[in-house]
Amino acid sequence: MELKWLNMIEPISRRSYIVTPILKIHVLKRTKYQEAGVLELAEFGKCLVLDGYVQSSIVDEHYYHESLVHPVMVAHEEPRSVLIIGGGEGATLREVLKHNTVQRAVMVDIDGELVEIAKRYLKEFHQGAFDDPRAEVVIEDGRKYVLESEEKFDIIILDLVDPFASEIATKLYTREFYSKVLERLNEGGIMVTQAGCSFYYPEEYFSVLKAIKSVFPIVNTYGLWVPVYGYVINFITGSKTVDITKLTPEEVDLRLAKRGVKTRVYKGKTHLALVNMPLYVRGEYAEATEGD
Ligand code: SAM
Repeated sequence: MELKWLNMIEPISRRSYIVTPILKIHVLKRTKYQEAGVLELAEFGKCLVLDGYVQSSIVDEHYYHESLVHPVMVAHEEPRSVLIIGGGEGATLREVLKHNTVQRAVMVDIDGELVEIAKRYLKEFHQGAFDDPRAEVVIEDGRKYVLESEEKFDIIILDLVDPFASEIATKLYTREFYSKVLERLNEGGIMVTQAGCSFYYPEEYFSVLKAIKSVFPIVNTYGLWVPVYGYVINFITGSKTVDITKLTPEEVDLRLAKRGVKTRVYKGKTHLALVNMPLYVRGEYAEATEGD
């Protein structure tokens, strides 16, 4: 395994990189599905790295995980059952379980060895979420789980490796998969997926957006800058009935308080900032240029 002992050379696009000194290697392991590492990086502290892509870092993982989880959770009147596909670190599970409405949270990750690495080396990320009696962790391909499960959920969160990264997640960024996800949603349910970066990977991003728009009547996009990624990460929601952009900051803060959810980044005003992305990110620009 070729290791950049001195620097982590993290791709932010197909041609550009962030170079960060590696201060310590907690673990490096080739699992059945990916090359997994827990590294200490200058600037970002402890990080989970999969196949050379930083998944999350201790200094800003809450930017990502709070932004992925709370907009859809708060937009739902009373989310009781949540399905998470991916989310190996356990931080998405941690954020979901903060809502006192949640009775059941199922986390399905393909890589059991990675989850064990997270349990041991990423305690600051999962903070014991794996042991919550409401949580069930299933080691399985998320696509297979969704195709074979009969269960329905109020919220489905796709916290996968990037659409431009490992092919183990490619099929979970497709119209076929999203139509199965729709079948697994209760009335009033909402899906959210991380969708990589519309600026550096427009092809992948807009194909995911198009796939979701072809399945769900209501689609919202939002995003925020995450320092360790070096770009704005985009999220896309899909629902039959819920438009997350309709929530006012007051409603967001009220629901967070009512459910006892403590957050560091996500608040009512942040929600407003998240969902007011430039037109092109919402796909209007892409549609406007089609056939130009
Ligand atoms: N927060 C990270 C990001 O946005 O870059 C991603 C979170 S997490 C580390 C990504 C997870 O997706 C990993 O734990 C990986 O094992 C999981 N994964 C990849 N393909 C999968 C699949 N087909 N089914 C279930 N989990 C999958």
